Amino acid sequence: MKKKIGAIGLFITLCALLGGCGGFAEPLAYLPVPWAGQEAEADAWLLLGPGPDEGSLAGAEWGIFESMRQPGHQAAPDENPQPITVYVPVRTEIFSQASEEAQTGETLAGGTFIKVTGNGPLWFACEGRWLYGQDLFPVEDGRPTETSLTATLIEGRFAALEEKLPEGSYWNHMGQELPEGVETPFSVTKTPCEHSTYGQAYCNFYSGSMLGLFSQYGHLCQCLGFASLLSDRLFGEAAPLYLLPHGIRPQAGDHLRLLEYEHSLIVREADENGLRLAEANPEYEDCLISWQRTFTWEEWEALYGWDVECTVTRYPFYQEEGRWVALEAIPAYTPEPGVSGAESP
Ligand SMILES: [Zn+2]
Repeated sequence: MKKKIGAIGLFITLCALLGGCGGFAEPLAYLPVPWAGQEAEADAWLLLGPGPDEGSLAGAEWGIFESMRQPGHQAAPDENPQPITVYVPVRTEIFSQASEEAQTGETLAGGTFIKVTGNGPLWFACEGRWLYGQDLFPVEDGRPTETSLTATLIEGRFAALEEKLPEGSYWNHMGQELPEGVETPFSVTKTPCEHSTYGQAYCNFYSGSMLGLFSQYGHLCQCLGFASLLSDRLFGEAAPLYLLPHGIRPQAGDHLRLLEYEHSLIVREADENGLRLAEANPEYEDCLISWQRTFTWEEWEALYGWDVECTVTRYPFYQEEGRWVALEAIPAYTPEPGVSGAESP
């Protein structure tokens, strides 16, 4: 497997070196988004970019600068003041701010029903204090659900993202000429971007928060850009990044970065059998979107043994012997002036 991937990588590199960028097909007449034919639908605002006075960057006409309003974007706390009734099954820590560092030393008794506010997905407010969403279980018809409030929200955001970035389509802007690094995070086409012919000319770019960890690339595209996009839309771009300690099992939304495979995967689901993963560019050639790859836990452990460079998580805690252990956030990234674009696989 490793040899095969290495050979493909070498082949692509050779093609990229020899191929150049000649021979483009005519630009497609349609907008490179799956909902382009439905401009009267609710997504019509996607097609509205900044007005002529607000920006002249290529791509504005496709509304790509509206991307922060896409599914999974973390709304401001006051956008959802509606209280949510939740059940707190076990004694739970109380925080003075929405941060793992803001422990008050106080706890809330287990077996309690309370009302919280906020969009989470990680932190929820209650009377000026904060609770961690993995400790809270939404109440439906008077009964607590078995899925935490955080996991419920993450699942809903994944479903919205899966609809916008569908299985079997290509995460690219094929047919539209754009300068290197212009972000088109929700552009999807039915046409492969053929890296062996065009390099990354038609691949989508999205840097987002993961750029802080992979700043050597300048901009993020292909599997890494896609992983950054999903992570930011699930948790909010402002959510801190943490590295999960080696051997701790990942959860939905975590980002597995593979070193030898030079690939990124987002955990779509984790259950007792293993992982289902979301990714772009599994074949290293065309930015295909896939939500179907699975690993058993045995396969994950084997992969972990030799190729998981790191697991990037937005969850501030991991569980050890039934207790939450706080992680240390990676310091926020400030781009150095003058960093220019480079390829990211
Ligand atoms: Zn591509």
